[in-house]
Amino acid sequence: MTIAIALFTQDLRLHDNPVLRAAVAAADEVVPLFVLDPDIAAAGFAVPNRAAFLADCLTDLDASLRPLGGRLILRHGPTAPATARLADELGAASVHLAAGVSAFAQRRERALRALLGDRLHVHDGALTVVVPGAVTPAGKDHYAVFTPYFRAWSQAPRRSVHRPPKALRTPDGVPSEPVPVPAGGPESPGLPPGGERAARRRWQRYPLDRYAELHDDLAADGTSRLSPYLHFGCLSANELAAAASRHGGEGAEAFVRQLAWRDFHHQVLAARPAAARHDYRDRGDRWLPEDDEECAAWRQGRTGFPLVDAGMRQLAHEGWMHNRARLVTASFLAKTLYRDWRIGARHFLRLLVDGDLANNQLNWQWVAGTGTDTRPNRVLNPLAQADRLDPAGDYVRRWVPELAHVPGRAVHRPWLLADRPAGYPDPIVDPTALSARLRHARDLD
Ligand code: FAD
Repeated sequence: MTIAIALFTQDLRLHDNPVLRAAVAAADEVVPLFVLDPDIAAAGFAVPNRAAFLADCLTDLDASLRPLGGRLILRHGPTAPATARLADELGAASVHLAAGVSAFAQRRERALRALLGDRLHVHDGALTVVVPGAVTPAGKDHYAVFTPYFRAWSQAPRRSVHRPPKALRTPDGVPSEPVPVPAGGPESPGLPPGGERAARRRWQRYPLDRYAELHDDLAADGTSRLSPYLHFGCLSANELAAAASRHGGEGAEAFVRQLAWRDFHHQVLAARPAAARHDYRDRGDRWLPEDDEECAAWRQGRTGFPLVDAGMRQLAHEGWMHNRARLVTASFLAKTLYRDWRIGARHFLRLLVDGDLANNQLNWQWVAGTGTDTRPNRVLNPLAQADRLDPAGDYVRRWVPELAHVPGRAVHRPWLLADRPAGYPDPIVDPTALSARLRHARDLD
């Protein structure tokens, strides 16, 4: 009997999973393994919202493996020694793992290699549609600008979509630990359920044809909300891109372009893991001193700018925020308040159920102008954005109850109302000088 270990990381699914497929093909018996690594918690990444979602994902994966003849084995401890110990105990001939992009994933892979040698098999194509580094501009190791990346990405060869295994035997008697549930529950009351089956239900019901028309309309809430499932790998980006391309039409095309943005940030981080912490492009910023009342007002959704506050309150309640609101709230912190993007990125990562190092840090840098935006000094005006993205004011009224009675788009400028809404703060910065700090600091005047 040969045994292979399928070491799950951000690929918590049976469908289109190159790691699981390779493990099933390699041996008579397969041990699907997930290791709860304390180094992820130590890095501040195992926050209650994502821990709760992860618990759902693991429970769901186990439940899907059982009818096939398998089950999920859970272990605690640093991934490399925990995996190598199990491989030695079982005499496993091979261990299969998805290639990751972060510095942590790259270190983990090196540690596994040191212990397992050529028993470790690392598989590309589990996390993204196009493998990071598979398309590059001449003489460079990654694309720094999205548009040429997207052109190359669209032409790049794709691997075929793998079917889930029909059967899979996990050896008897391999001890497993229970699925850990965060002690105090999630921080946000409105989290979605985790797991591959919930993900596939959401995807199958999603009206892709309406994506192009609805994705910038905050009140319509018409984006797919698949990001947490993509982050944990409950869905394969490759499978979604293939299905959307087959479907065709304007909505599907616009959706596929967003998947390309995800790949774009992954290939930047894979080539520049330090960009998770350091400016990708140094603009010589000397950010205003950290974490004062203005930052607190931003976190609490009490800046006096209704669209910013609505976004921040959606984040607190759902552990998720609409992309357009993420752009506006992030620009408000980094550019209008002129605070270090890392303060905002940290707060987002504390709450976002889709919190993802590549997407979060590099989108924050894009907004702050230290990343890949080709117009690094643009400032999103939350009032103009509100008129465009929430023209009837419904998104703001949904999330800011103090303003629920204010009709129409007047809700976006409550300081102009004769009857000022009780309990809602005045703007914390002058609404006519929203770019002043950035312009001064970056010497743009
Ligand atoms: P849809 O519009 O339905 O798009 C489909 C998928 O494409 C998403 O699920 C996501 O995986 C991907 N996608 C869409 N937009 C982007 C984008 N701009 N960059 C990268 N991928 C994208 N996304 C995360 O997954 N995790 C994060 O931690 C994260 N942090 C962000 C922080 C800031 C400041 C900003 C501006 C954006 C951030 N995003 C992040 C990107 C984007 O906002 C979310 O992916 C999107 O809002 C998720 O909603 P959805 O699934 O309905 O997206």
